[in-house]
Amino acid sequence: MTVIRLPTAQPPDCVLGARPDVTESAGAYRATGGYWSATIRPDELLHHLEASGLRGRGGAGFPVAVKLRAVREGGAVPVVVANGEEGEPGSVKDRWLLRARPHLVLDGLARAAAMTGAARGYVYLSDPEAGARVRRALAEHPPPLPIEVVETDRTYVAGEESAVVRRIDGGPALPTAKPPRPFERGVGGAPTLVSNVETLARIALTASRPGLRRRIARSTLVTLSGGRGTPLLTEIPYGVPLRTLAAAHGTPDAAGALMGGLFGGLVDARGLDLPLEPGALAAAGTALGCGAIRFLAAGTCPVTAAAEAVGHLAAESARQCGVCVTGTAAVHGALRALAAGTAGPDTLANLTRWAQGLPGRGACGLLDAAAGTAGSLLRAFPRTLPSHLGAACPACAADLTAADLTAAGLTAAGPGRLAVAVPEVSETPSPPSPPTTPSARTALSAPPVLKGTP
Ligand code: SF4
Repeated sequence: MTVIRLPTAQPPDCVLGARPDVTESAGAYRATGGYWSATIRPDELLHHLEASGLRGRGGAGFPVAVKLRAVREGGAVPVVVANGEEGEPGSVKDRWLLRARPHLVLDGLARAAAMTGAARGYVYLSDPEAGARVRRALAEHPPPLPIEVVETDRTYVAGEESAVVRRIDGGPALPTAKPPRPFERGVGGAPTLVSNVETLARIALTASRPGLRRRIARSTLVTLSGGRGTPLLTEIPYGVPLRTLAAAHGTPDAAGALMGGLFGGLVDARGLDLPLEPGALAAAGTALGCGAIRFLAAGTCPVTAAAEAVGHLAAESARQCGVCVTGTAAVHGALRALAAGTAGPDTLANLTRWAQGLPGRGACGLLDAAAGTAGSLLRAFPRTLPSHLGAACPACAADLTAADLTAAGLTAAGPGRLAVAVPEVSETPSPPSPPTTPSARTALSAPPVLKGTP
């Protein structure tokens, strides 16, 4: 796993920071203008967030200022939660962020508390290494409100906001029926802001650099994997074509991509001309989600990719909603049969019906992701599918050996090839950042900056 800084991500104005390979100390963070060295009033910051158009980075992309106002006006003293539970198998940004820049996240959480009037906060995560770094950061720089670290097991649904509330309240990390949503009734019954850790990092950056609010709001961390390249975590401005990212990742001839983690479905090779911008992606029927993109190498069959993705979702179903249990299993079975060449004549019609009828029927987005993946396969690769009826696809057969079927999660055995390792981050305290003169900025921007586990 490699972290690189593309020329557009310049410290200290980016989330990647100056040293993505080392846990940032409180002193180093303060030297970049962090914590309350930036004396911006909460209402002023809320105005800047609204004007910037910052949207959440957990997957749904909801406007941050709207969510903050809803929690503030909830009629009781609110609670704020930094959500660092990262269930998407292809995403590493949240765990990296908590390991490398815990103070940036904690600063954002304290700012969110000030904007909403919250009296206590939580950091919710599943990565023990991230938990240790956050606890150390809390001891190093005591926050202005009580903040507790709550750990959970890593699953696909544990980071869904109602599951977060349920776990913090002492229950299982499983989604609940909505309404009420956490902003109405969350932890302990109080209005609760559940905010992704990258979102909070961008709130903190906006507080210290309001003049750069739009640039901060229109950049994003992305995890690139699949294809022929080494998995890559980087930060880019909105608008970069997916094809440029594919080339940066080492797969310039990608046949398509699995977008948004498992939430944005598949795009074909022409879809790689789309810019990485939430509005443009939504208009094309896909999504940025949590910023995880898995490229398909040339020659990879999209049916196999869809079967892998839905196989993982079926294995991760919380099995609370009957329609999710039967729906994800049915979609997975159909895709697997297509990949194996054993699908019956009704398979494509069934997939079409499920893709249209299943979304919105579960308590969380997992079922939507499974149905959406099937729908995107039908839309983006219409000419590929008929050849899978009644005959084994050579590309699928070459891609998935019997052993792969287990490794890929097609037998509900886990994330398999979809998993990406989190970059290594050294605990060695980083020295105070040098002053941000033009010459220092040039020296800090030299890529690549970190190599970690493969
Ligand atoms: S839709 Fe599926 S994963 Fe989500 S709560 Fe229901 S059973 Fe669980």
